[in-house]
Amino acid sequence: MGKSVGPWFFWGCMGAVSTARKFQLDSTYDPDHFYSDHKRLEAMEALGFANWTILTLYAISLCVRVAYASSGEQIPTITFPIPRITFSIPRIAFPIPHNDLSIPNLPFLRDQASIRNDSNSTCLMCRRRPRNGRFDFSGINCRDEAKRLSPMLLEIPRDHATFSMIQLKFQQSWKPANGTTCPRVKYFYRIVETSNSVASYHNYLRTYGNEGFFYHGTRRSCRLGDNGHTTLCASPLCNACSIIRTSFAVTLANPGAFGQGIYTSSASNKSASYSNSPSNGIMFLTKVVLGNIYNVNRFAEVTTCPTGYQSVVFDRMNGQLNETVVYTDDAIRPVYLIVFG
Ligand SMILES: [Zn+2]
Ligand SMILES: [Zn+2]
Repeated sequence: MGKSVGPWFFWGCMGAVSTARKFQLDSTYDPDHFYSDHKRLEAMEALGFANWTILTLYAISLCVRVAYASSGEQIPTITFPIPRITFSIPRIAFPIPHNDLSIPNLPFLRDQASIRNDSNSTCLMCRRRPRNGRFDFSGINCRDEAKRLSPMLLEIPRDHATFSMIQLKFQQSWKPANGTTCPRVKYFYRIVETSNSVASYHNYLRTYGNEGFFYHGTRRSCRLGDNGHTTLCASPLCNACSIIRTSFAVTLANPGAFGQGIYTSSASNKSASYSNSPSNGIMFLTKVVLGNIYNVNRFAEVTTCPTGYQSVVFDRMNGQLNETVVYTDDAIRPVYLIVFG
């Protein structure tokens, strides 16, 4: 009870003072100063009313406490639901001071091989600032500049953290099903997609979920990827350049054992068999939206995507020759290009 006396006393005094002041103003009311006095009077009345209301509430609560204390009962706890108000603070992206807008003219974009000896986790675009966390770029300026130049390839230096990461994945997913040994990784490139390509993939991902990384071996009819060569060729027959330019297209895919779809594998050895040659091949590391997976146990068990599913998986030889098939363009995007041999 001791705790409630303080505020009770305070509000009592305030109520008494404001009421006394109101009566004083009442008695000295001067019609010549009608406006200002009237306002002060109103203010005092309001203040007095508020004070007396609070005082009355304190008095009631005190009576309730006394009543409960004399009856020996526990005072029930009344909790008022306080609405949780959350403010969404807009994310303000501060542009990082940057003088790299001349990047397209820098030599490394024309000949990246010349600056392969870079530090360990620098931004793949400016190669100067450290990258931002797990992202490949240092900030939005470098990312936006890369997007502006997209679609394109950015070479990952051999001593770069991303190089080690992908190399490890590549080696771990090499299942020597046919007694083959894992080839050496010669070059890695990050593929920068166009904003439209990113957006339509993300829409699909949001709808179906279940994303994974898979390999896709393919052929090239130019020297893309060799020795830092990143210029896409114009040949419509060059699978590698077409995929980087416009991603995968189901309509252009050769029908396989599970119908017309885009075939990938969790085993890098399986994908390597689709490249030009084991001694000088390329493959993509792709991101794939699997959605609902339809598992099969033999070839041609299905030849289209079954209704209600978004992917077909054949874990042949316990995954050593895994086949993962999707049937929609937006279910897959190339992320890295790997040159091996
Ligand atoms: Zn940068
Ligand atoms: Zn090409």
